[in-house]
Amino acid sequence: MQLSQSNSANNTPFLQNLQGFDANHPPDPKLLKSCVHCGFCLSTCPSYRVIGKEMDSPRGRIYLMDAINQGEIALNAASVEHFDSCLGCLACVTACPSGVQYDKLISATRHQIERNYPRSFSEKLFRQLIFSLFPNPALLRILLVPLFVYQKLGFSKFFRTTGLLQKISPRLAAMESILPEITLKYLQDNFPEVIPAQGKKRYRVGVILGCVQRLFFSSVNKATVQVLTANGCEVIIPKSQGCCAALPEHQGQTKQAQALAKQMIDSFANTGVDFIIINAAGCGHTLKEYGHILEDDPEYRDKAKEFAAKVTDAQEFLVKVGLTAKLSPLREQPLTLVYQDACHLLHGQKISVQPRQLLQQIPKVKLQEPPDAAICCGSAGVYNLLQPEVAEELGKQKVQNLLKTGADLIVSPNPGCTLQIAKHLRLQGQKIAIAHPMELLDYSIRGEKLNI
Ligand code: SF4
Ligand code: SF4
Repeated sequence: MQLSQSNSANNTPFLQNLQGFDANHPPDPKLLKSCVHCGFCLSTCPSYRVIGKEMDSPRGRIYLMDAINQGEIALNAASVEHFDSCLGCLACVTACPSGVQYDKLISATRHQIERNYPRSFSEKLFRQLIFSLFPNPALLRILLVPLFVYQKLGFSKFFRTTGLLQKISPRLAAMESILPEITLKYLQDNFPEVIPAQGKKRYRVGVILGCVQRLFFSSVNKATVQVLTANGCEVIIPKSQGCCAALPEHQGQTKQAQALAKQMIDSFANTGVDFIIINAAGCGHTLKEYGHILEDDPEYRDKAKEFAAKVTDAQEFLVKVGLTAKLSPLREQPLTLVYQDACHLLHGQKISVQPRQLLQQIPKVKLQEPPDAAICCGSAGVYNLLQPEVAEELGKQKVQNLLKTGADLIVSPNPGCTLQIAKHLRLQGQKIAIAHPMELLDYSIRGEKLNI
């Protein structure tokens, strides 16, 4: 096997600069030992499918973690590249017959890397740009104005058609390529803090708006609130809420993730909500992990567990409590939908049945299943910005698989997936629309017809 060959020779890239993990939560040796190296996870791993190397598979990475733990291999450029190539999609967790908790292993590894591995100046700079921008909806909103002007003046079209930015910086080009068309409605942020239930009140729920969701998909948040109130929920939206911490947590930015998690917990303190509802898959997975993110914080440990216990995905919630609002067809003739499983719902939260159940309750809806539904679309948080080549291939394949179903509309429960799919539909010259399940339910409840 590739690793033992490398290990047997002195001066291999894996051995240079023998810095390993520190003592602060390294990957748990017991979890590492639970891997029996059977390889059942390999075919479900998107990085292994595209790159084709053992070290870019779950099994290879587990070998690497174990070897670094044992001081046999260094945490250096040669090993870190294989952890960076992981999408964190958690398909391997679903596939593994031995119950290996790869999610915990890669999370521990990523925090170790950011503490102990010195990234290059340009890498640090690009990551800093991402971590300053994306978890900061206020700053993102300010940037919408220059981005609006940039698009209106035709720069976006110029860069996309000439490929010039791709030649200068593939990462900046990747960032530019997922940008949706900015409209002035993105500048609005006008939810009241309390929105009453329609009819008899059944629950008092909090709603988390997200960062990208709040700006680029405010229609999804609006639809979520309308669906919840139409089904007897009083909705609370604290103004002080910020980012859920998913992005820094997935990329090993420990302090930023902890600070954002605490801010979120504080913003919902004393609201008296029964549930905290989230409509973005990636955010929901992290919000449910707050107990783990703040496990070493004596002040917040218990508050974090209490908060996480209330977090519920919007679709999970609606199936749990049942719809009371009447649903109408979305158009006169039957409508075929294809539901795109978001990894952090499917693998991270084991939510796959609920979205399908909800969509199938809409009259005249037929649901199609795409090939390779459980394989990541390549978005994976900011993976498509950090590893654009692998993400490109996965995005291309995902869109081809969705289109094979012949559906009239794609349903996506995560803003990152939606941006990635929209980009690849555009690149493949396809015009099929994408909607969030909450938008379709909202249309159906209001009796509005889709224009497709
Ligand atoms: S992670 Fe699970 S499926 Fe993959 S090699 Fe290890 S035991 Fe087998
Ligand atoms: S999280 Fe996804 S990309 Fe990473 S090892 Fe598991 S299946 Fe592969």
